[in-house]
Amino acid sequence: MGQLDGKTAVVTGGSSGIGLAAARRLAAEGAHVFVTGRREDELRDAVDVIGTATAVAGDIADPADLDRLYDAVRARGQGLDALFANAGAAGFATLAETTAEHVDRILDVNVRGTVLTVQKALPLLNEGASVIVNSSVRADDGVEGFGTYAASKAALRSYARTWANELRGRGVRVNAISPGTIDTPALSGLVPAEELDAVRAEFAAKVPLGRMGTAEEVAAAVLFLASEQSTFVLGANLYVDGGENQV
Ligand code: NAP
Repeated sequence: MGQLDGKTAVVTGGSSGIGLAAARRLAAEGAHVFVTGRREDELRDAVDVIGTATAVAGDIADPADLDRLYDAVRARGQGLDALFANAGAAGFATLAETTAEHVDRILDVNVRGTVLTVQKALPLLNEGASVIVNSSVRADDGVEGFGTYAASKAALRSYARTWANELRGRGVRVNAISPGTIDTPALSGLVPAEELDAVRAEFAAKVPLGRMGTAEEVAAAVLFLASEQSTFVLGANLYVDGGENQV
């Protein structure tokens, strides 16, 4: 018996990193998982490794793409039991370097895209459903150059509290997770290849457990929040950070 037998889940950004690991974990526990992402090839490969999954390519910043995603979920006819609003954009810019385009890009995806991801799921959410919003430890600190990203993740943590209150009457739980520094393909998008090893070592040195986390370790927390193991957890922010912002 899987913990999510017969359940339906959506994981945005399910083709790589944390989202892919979460989609695999939810599927391994019996859920049928809908995964999104903009790159179709990447998404097709992801479905092969996830198992019981449906790919709906799209951009969470585009409302029409979200409508197509939820049309596909609706067509399956079983509502939605778990939503992991995971897709996000990152980028470095100090205040002096920040452009209007940088702010628009990060906030359009992380804030506006996540708001619409959860809002458009509302008609489909079954009683007992769980919504998990991917925030970040960066919401709590002031890492140089990460201001807009950090602000976007702080906004998501805040939304999770409000949505938890607004949806609890329907039997829907909303929580956030805050991963620490997790070794995913996102890192190579932010750091030149020749600096990757040094950056990984620098990140690891800041973590009390002495290493970066894995996507699978975050996926375990997502499963906890998606499953009946967490029925008394509401509006929380579950840190998966090796103690980075805790001790
Ligand atoms: P990743 O390996 O680069 O994966 C990102 C996923 O999101 C990919 O599937 C990507 O596919 C998808 N995606 C990106 N922008 C999208 C958009 N506009 N619409 C739809 N899908 C989109 O990154 P990751 O490290 O797993 O990050 C996943 C989430 O965790 C992000 O929200 C990130 O902020 C958060 N997080 C990461 C860390 C970390 O240390 N890695 C720590 C805290 C929080 P396409 O590119 O094909 O669209």
